[in-house]
Amino acid sequence: MNRRRWMGIGAALLASGRRAAKGQRARPPAPAGEAQPAPQDGGLPLERYQPKSMLHVPESHVPRSRFPVLDFHTHITGSSGGNAGAVRFSMDPTNCLAVMDRKNIRTMVNLTGGYGDGVREAIARLPTAHPGRFVVFTEPAWSKASDDGYAKLQADLIVDAHKAGARGIKVLKTLGLFLREDGSGKLVRIDDPRFDPMWETAASLKMPVAIHTSDPEAFFLPIDRFNERWEELHAHPNWSFHGKDFPSDRELQEARRNVMRRHPRTQFVCLHVANSENLPFVSECLESHPNMHVDIAARIGELGRQPRMARKFFDRYQDRIVFGTDASAGSSTPQQTFGDALYEIYYRFLETEDEYFDYAPAPVPPQGRWRIYGVGLSEPVLRKIYAMNAARLIGLTA
Ligand SMILES: [Zn+2]
Repeated sequence: MNRRRWMGIGAALLASGRRAAKGQRARPPAPAGEAQPAPQDGGLPLERYQPKSMLHVPESHVPRSRFPVLDFHTHITGSSGGNAGAVRFSMDPTNCLAVMDRKNIRTMVNLTGGYGDGVREAIARLPTAHPGRFVVFTEPAWSKASDDGYAKLQADLIVDAHKAGARGIKVLKTLGLFLREDGSGKLVRIDDPRFDPMWETAASLKMPVAIHTSDPEAFFLPIDRFNERWEELHAHPNWSFHGKDFPSDRELQEARRNVMRRHPRTQFVCLHVANSENLPFVSECLESHPNMHVDIAARIGELGRQPRMARKFFDRYQDRIVFGTDASAGSSTPQQTFGDALYEIYYRFLETEDEYFDYAPAPVPPQGRWRIYGVGLSEPVLRKIYAMNAARLIGLTA
């Protein structure tokens, strides 16, 4: 066993918490001379603790959704980060179609479609090759954001992508957390006016904007023994936005609200339920911004641990919520690994009232050690969330 991951549930977690609390990430090995936590009688490394539920409760298997699905949030291609908006395919469209047919998914929206020649390639190999089954969104040219004339260039690139067949715009959390000014290195604000022509162009072309802002609240807190996502942050330390010059979660949320307020004709889909740990806040935002919608991608772990509030949220905002999974290739984030198991868990969550089940196909819940409860939505609400709301936003016939 890798000694640096060895952690008695008691002593070592406390010790690493103390290190993190001093502003230092818990990153063993310990300096020479410092005693390594030794396993004690009855000690168990946290990562090996995989308790099995002893509850005797009904377990539903939902192999197909009750109604056809439009998955609004997938990553079949990824932007290669190059200057020309190029994309690389991380999933094979033929394999996607096989899963889609088994799982009753009519259409997948590939959000990260790049721009320029990249978006053209994604469109050629997805919606053009398989009409009706795929939709492609375009992305801003972040690498040009500090250039003179960027505001107009960006609007023109959106028009170009729309002509090529792109149906919406995807804004990664890059905006707000990673995109910095050339030279000064200052973070570029989400509500910076240089993006105004882009937001307005989206409205004119009826392209919804899928925007990921901020991240789970725990990612903005110290990685210590109080952090409910300790294991997830330990596995992905670069997901931490604690300290440095990062804005707080709420500052990022408020900057996005400024954009929605300033561009009332533009339709925004705030990804990952906008702020899934705080549904009262999301409800307040939905009430004050009629152009705001949310998707549920990679957040059934959050919604499903507050099933009573979530059920009311789904009912109240049934016209503003779209189905999405964040489906991606690879296994490092099991809560979004594309495949049959992923969709079966979403369907079970939305359609049944099953209790205390895993939100991801993984031996240990990857986003935090808890389990979820189904919300058992009614058929009219399911139809809207599975496909009708997203189809309306994108301009497809439901
Ligand atoms: Zn995503």
